[in-house]
Amino acid sequence: MYYFSAEKYDYATTNMKEAGEGKFCPFCNSRIEYEYYQYSHIGKFKCPNCNYGDNQIYKLATNIDLKNRKFDVDGITYNIKFNSIYNIYNFLAVITCTSLYSIDTEIVKKALSTFVLNNGRLEELTIQGIPTIINLAKNPTGSNVSLRILNEDDDEKELLFVLNDNVADGHDVSWIWDINFDSLNNVKRIVTSRNSCL
Ligand SMILES: [Zn+2]
Repeated sequence: MYYFSAEKYDYATTNMKEAGEGKFCPFCNSRIEYEYYQYSHIGKFKCPNCNYGDNQIYKLATNIDLKNRKFDVDGITYNIKFNSIYNIYNFLAVITCTSLYSIDTEIVKKALSTFVLNNGRLEELTIQGIPTIINLAKNPTGSNVSLRILNEDDDEKELLFVLNDNVADGHDVSWIWDINFDSLNNVKRIVTSRNSCL
């Protein structure tokens, strides 16, 4: 088994700030102890009873700098086009797998530095001259990470929040109660809307 992990980033906390699962050890049911939370229940933890979570780390992200969109692994700096902590974990998975398959680090560096998603997941575009980011969220954790990105970005911005209850995403939208809207502290204006079909 190969594990990857990320060092504490600037907005990590010592308390769980968002909806999270995994408070108890799946092996012995003891309460898991966290050194830090990056977001939701993702962070550095271990079970005080059976040491679950106390793993030897194969790839560790250090010097995580989301403002300048870069991080280090094994002394190599990776530049990325994203400024979200969860993407660091996604890219760590890539770095872990490509390392195990002995893929050239330069190829991985180039791939990560040019990779963008165009399906509404932090998709960047310009609408009438205004830089815009679209993010699709389908659960509290995804939504709360989106709010983190807004809080951690110093630029002036507005939020358009659109909710739908269409078949593809489910008719039950009660999960929005677990979004930490009261943590928003860096948005000039919020506009809400709904997108629904009969
Ligand atoms: Zn345990």
